Amino acid sequence: MAWCPFAKKMELQPESDSQPAIRPTQFILHSIVAPWTPERTYEYWRDSTNLESHFGLGYDGSLGQYIGTHTRADANFSANRRADGTGAVSLESASNLEASDPWTDEQVETIIRLGVWLHQEEGIPLRVCRTWDDPGYGFHRMFSEWNPNGHACPGAARVKQFHEVVFPGIVARATGKAPSQPKFEPYPGEAFFMDGDTPALGKSSPIFTAMGKRLVAEGCGRYKVGPGPKLGQADVDSYEAWQRECGYSGAAAKWPPGPTTWNKLQVPHV
Ligand SMILES: [Zn+2]
Repeated sequence: MAWCPFAKKMELQPESDSQPAIRPTQFILHSIVAPWTPERTYEYWRDSTNLESHFGLGYDGSLGQYIGTHTRADANFSANRRADGTGAVSLESASNLEASDPWTDEQVETIIRLGVWLHQEEGIPLRVCRTWDDPGYGFHRMFSEWNPNGHACPGAARVKQFHEVVFPGIVARATGKAPSQPKFEPYPGEAFFMDGDTPALGKSSPIFTAMGKRLVAEGCGRYKVGPGPKLGQADVDSYEAWQRECGYSGAAAKWPPGPTTWNKLQVPHV
């Protein structure tokens, strides 16, 4: 089984041990019809249903993985596992309750990254699936063998994005026709910045140095020394100044960084 290095592993039992092995040849995208984080999706799979996907994607681009990619997951009907042992890797993504909203920029970025990883790790070919059992990339409503109930998943706006942005983005990045790394550091998710309910003071990462340099450049630096890789109170104070600069106040301006102000800060990729 393979676990994605940039996904938070939340292994789902007993499914992870009890479901049969697959050889993954497809990647199928879904909308979960709920605005859930990967953690909330995990709880739902664990407590409420036997169905599940391999991956869950939050609005902020954070990614969870529940089942290894060489084990069957059950979101794709006949494509879960075929008689020849091949099957689909599936991803559920946070959406509104009608599954009518487009993916956020952060979601698009993570789907592209995961699509490239699946190509490199599993050899999924860089094409849109032509039939229900053809190796490649697709979305749930594409074939009735994947979606016997005929529902619209992942929604019209996301189908459009799949064709115009997501799949071309996977191809461009996997073939080296686009920078293999994003220019700016993707939002690392709220948990990266926190230690439970308090700022993760003392945590070390080159992202903090890059972030601090950008805060200084924007006139929001509150440093006496640094910035450096170890998260300190000056980083927290500086980032809160930046959030106020972006128009937030009160609790909304407090640590941790949110995806909107993070993307606006344009922290160079480390
Ligand atoms: Zn679906």
